[in-house]
Amino acid sequence: MPLVRYRKVVILGYRSVGKTSLAHQFVEGEFLEGYDPTVENTYSKIVTLGKDEFHLHLVDTAGQDEYSILPYSFIIGVHGYVLVYSVTSLHSFQVIESLYQKLHEGHGKTRLPVVLVGNKADLSPDREVQAVEGKKLAESWGATFMESSARENQVFGLKIMGKIRLTRGIFTKVIQE
Ligand code: GDP
Repeated sequence: MPLVRYRKVVILGYRSVGKTSLAHQFVEGEFLEGYDPTVENTYSKIVTLGKDEFHLHLVDTAGQDEYSILPYSFIIGVHGYVLVYSVTSLHSFQVIESLYQKLHEGHGKTRLPVVLVGNKADLSPDREVQAVEGKKLAESWGATFMESSARENQVFGLKIMGKIRLTRGIFTKVIQE
């Protein structure tokens, strides 16, 4: 019998960085053009990793800024976080730093499973945040860092640069943390 585990994962980040696109790409396997601001959306998906089965409850949030107060539902009972910024927006990267501080305060001393994602890596010519900056920030938290393109359904980790991985890798990583 496979071991079934429950995971609640919350996607946080500034608006329009690609949170919904990443969730949608993972759950539905397609990229939606056009921007439709999310209120809050939850997805349920069974993810099989080796012999283990995970019941994933994925919360796609409306988007936050540096002044946002995180509701308890984003803290209590949450297993891990996908923190998303856009590599084309320095502001979205700065917002992530302040969100992480809030999560850290909310969770106290417990270790936070976090995957930091620099999305829209396909728009590299318009970059405002370099991959090394994202990597440095994630390292300072002891978290995993990846860059991604929800549009191309790809992730790029610094160590696996050059190899193509699907955005699914973001979610399987945070589930297993
Ligand atoms: P959210 O507000 O963070 O959920 O962002 P959305 O997922 O709604 O995406 C905002 C806009 O950016 C939409 O127009 C998407 O089509 C676009 N977008 C999202 N991800 C990518 C990506 O990886 N590459 C490119 N080029 N555009 C993206």
